[in-house]
Amino acid sequence: MDLTTYAELAVLLVNSPDRLAGLAGLRALLEESGRPGHASRLGRDDLDALRELREELLALFEAAADGDERQVVDRLNALLRRHPVHPQISDHDGEAWHMHLTEGGRFSDQYIVGAVMGLASIVTGLGVDRLGLCQAPPCRRAYLDTSSNRSRRYCSERCASRANVAAYRARKKNGRLDSGR
Ligand SMILES: [Zn+2]
Ligand SMILES: [Zn+2]
Repeated sequence: MDLTTYAELAVLLVNSPDRLAGLAGLRALLEESGRPGHASRLGRDDLDALRELREELLALFEAAADGDERQVVDRLNALLRRHPVHPQISDHDGEAWHMHLTEGGRFSDQYIVGAVMGLASIVTGLGVDRLGLCQAPPCRRAYLDTSSNRSRRYCSERCASRANVAAYRARKKNGRLDSGR
C-alpha cells in the first residue's frame, strides 16, 4: 500500500471548502476522492469532523509554505495521536477486499487517518518542503510537490500560466523587456 497517494486526500480537503457546506457537497467530495463505496454511511458527524480537519490541515500547509518544519511536524504528530491507525481488511457494500486504515466505521475516520498518514509519509519520505500553497495570488490552494527537482510553486497549470503572464506584464511595465536584460 502506497501511503503517499493518501496525501492527495489532504490536498483535496484543503482545496474544497465549498464541499463542506452540507451533506450533498460531502457526497461530491467522496466521489472526487475515488471512494464512493463509503457514501451510504455519511452523517452530520462526518461533516463536523472534516470541517475541523480542514482548518488544521490549512494551518499545517501554511506552516509548510512558511518553511516552519518544526511546526508542521508538531501538528502532524498531534493529528497522528488523535487519529491512530488500526488497519483492517473490509469488503463492505460489495466492494473487493480493501484496506481500511482504521475501523472507526465512519467515512470521516477513514478519510482523516488516510490524509494524516499520507502527509506523514510524504514528510518523512520526501521532505516537509514537498507541501506548499499556490504562489499565484490570490489562489493559495494546497499542492504536493512530487517533481524530481522540487520546482513546483503552483497548484495547477492554469495558475502557473496566470503567474507567468502577470510577471511578463510587470517586466513590460518596468521597461525591462526593451533594455535587453
Ligand atoms: Zn471501505
Ligand atoms: Zn493556484
